[in-house]
Amino acid sequence: MTIADDLRELIRTVPDFPKPGIRFRDVTTLLAHGDGLRRSVAGLAGLADGLDIDSVAGIEARGFIFGSALAVHLGLGFIPLRKPGKLPVATIGEDYDLEYGKARLELDPTLLKPGQRVLLVDDLLATGGTAVAGTRLLRRAGGVVNSAVFVIDLPELGGAGLLAEMEVAAQSIVG
Ligand code: 5GP
Repeated sequence: MTIADDLRELIRTVPDFPKPGIRFRDVTTLLAHGDGLRRSVAGLAGLADGLDIDSVAGIEARGFIFGSALAVHLGLGFIPLRKPGKLPVATIGEDYDLEYGKARLELDPTLLKPGQRVLLVDDLLATGGTAVAGTRLLRRAGGVVNSAVFVIDLPELGGAGLLAEMEVAAQSIVG
């Protein structure tokens, strides 16, 4: 059994959440499993191996869990891409469409220096709308974003292709 098969078994699929017809991949069962969590973070670190990066950015909320664990593992700082209205300082924001609705991400642009190389992290890549919005935000703040890593990719939804159009290489542990 591969690492991907092993981890896939720890992810719970919940039908009809948050809307009828959506099969939600619930990673809380993976997070609650000590060895599953450790292997997920090690898997992400393996994907990041050899990448030229200065920082890790994660998308609220599940991207914070995997992203901050990965940042600690790599000895790098963590930049949060937050849901609206959470940051106590001036922000820049990107609105985008989700598979099921609309959303917005916000960033404190002073967290980045011009030319800072950032690895984007989230739990799951579906249509790619969220990761594209995160990439746009980080680039507007002066970041260089060439790569993104995910625990899960749903390849039939085309997110990796959308990111490739922005010259971001997407990799995942469970594809
Ligand atoms: P996208 O923008 O690529 O269509 O959707 C990905 C974003 O929505 C990620 O931030 C991810 O956390 C969330 N998401 C969408 N579908 C799922 C799902 O089935 N499971 C989980 N855990 N997150 C999802």
